[in-house]
Amino acid sequence: MHRIVVVGGGIAGIVIATHLSRRLARSKTAEILLIDHNFSHVWKPMLHTFAAGTANYGSENISFFSQAKRSGFKYWPGELAGLDRSRKLVDLGPVRLPDATKSLPGRSLPYDTLILAVGSRANDFGTPGVAENCHFVDNIGEANAFNNLLRSRMLQAIDARTDLHVVIVGGGATGVELSAELARRTEILSSYVHEATATRVHLTLIETGPRLLGPFPERISKAVEAKLRRIGVDVRTKTKVVESDKDGVVLEGGQRIDAALIVWAAGIKAPEVVAKLDGLDVSRQGQILVRPTLQSKQDDSVFALGDCSSLPGKDGKPLPTTAQVARQQAVFLARSLARHLGQNRPLAEFHFRDMGSLVSLADYAAYGTLGSYGFFRGGFLKGRLAHVAHAALYRMHQMSLYGPVRGGVVSLTDDLARAVRPRVDLS
Ligand SMILES: Cc1cc2nc3c(=O)[nH]c(=O)nc-3n(C[C@H](O)[C@H](O)[C@H](O)COP(=O)(O)OP(=O)(O)OC[C@H]3O[C@@H](n4cnc5c(N)ncnc54)[C@H](O)[C@@H]3O)c2cc1C
Repeated sequence: MHRIVVVGGGIAGIVIATHLSRRLARSKTAEILLIDHNFSHVWKPMLHTFAAGTANYGSENISFFSQAKRSGFKYWPGELAGLDRSRKLVDLGPVRLPDATKSLPGRSLPYDTLILAVGSRANDFGTPGVAENCHFVDNIGEANAFNNLLRSRMLQAIDARTDLHVVIVGGGATGVELSAELARRTEILSSYVHEATATRVHLTLIETGPRLLGPFPERISKAVEAKLRRIGVDVRTKTKVVESDKDGVVLEGGQRIDAALIVWAAGIKAPEVVAKLDGLDVSRQGQILVRPTLQSKQDDSVFALGDCSSLPGKDGKPLPTTAQVARQQAVFLARSLARHLGQNRPLAEFHFRDMGSLVSLADYAAYGTLGSYGFFRGGFLKGRLAHVAHAALYRMHQMSLYGPVRGGVVSLTDDLARAVRPRVDLS
């Protein structure tokens, strides 16, 4: 059987493994193995809510083992470490086991088709002190670690009646949404614990560019900035962080902002290992350059999709690193590869359909554009409708993994659990 190895079980990886298995189940032309260094899948656009403690990770992750069993692929934990294209072997490094004292050993696995979907991280652009002193929210480990620190520092601040300063660097969707969730967390916590908490937590959002949410229309950037200011976030655009230390950040021009917690949510780059994959060409952000078939430039057997890949869109600029692109590419490649392997049809070419973008400011507000497809193309969304549309993206993802019946039950259970759980994670 044709052996397909998918590395990375994020949005692109789990969708392609699931859909490809369903499509190839009857013909039994290929076996699919999914590798990820984590044991469960998480919808990455929710990470900032786990970091802020406004959502509960325990009920929002999908075990790779159970998804594999349900969908007919195999899963094994592994860390992408290298590639030998001439021998068609992918090298995996050791993976830390849940008890954190032991690891599973590394190994080399043979493939006929390799699909790389290892995502991206924030990019510190080599800014001094950032790697050592800033927190990142690029994976569930980092989001949970930040949440633990946040809870501790908040309790200390309440107890000592001191102020807590939090700086968020990066005015893209991640930084904006995280700022709003942190403001919401503070507000909820103050209603639970102490009337004065809200006045003791100071949030500063720093963006180098002239406005927040650069890729969104200016109208949305303005509305988002105004809303963030209203909920108490100190928004600073045209402001560049040039250094960070354990007590805060230094801005271009020499001004300092002191902070107990600094989150770096600016820029993106592919995981470092991607640039070391046996001579595959990469972009400046270290993403694998791919052709419209999503095959790498050099090797027909190696595909890449989602954030770790770079493909020019209609305007010649690389497609954005978003959940929408990752999902569309995964659904597309599952169909294209299944036809190629099952019916010997040529691989199809991917064309991105921009369905619009949404940004959600916790319970406070949501805004969006409707993209260039569909009946209401180019329109704006805001308020309840935008909130519902934002939540629907995650629900659609769950449905596509679980199927409509199970997906519907999972959504209902989540909604019921949310209704009875404390609104912030206080455990
Ligand atoms: C806080 C936050 C909020 C966001 N909000 C939005 C939003 O509102 N809308 C939107 O469109 N996009 C949003 N994004 C971006 C979006 O999440 C990404 O574009 C999307 O997840 C990309 O999907 P992917 O499958 O390429 O990568 P990911 O979903 O990141 O998946 C990568 C997978 O690879 C695994 N992996 C990584 N390295 C290795 C390795 N060496 N070995 C093995 N496995 C590995 C990881 O464990 C992970 O499972 C947000 C991102 C963040 C961080």
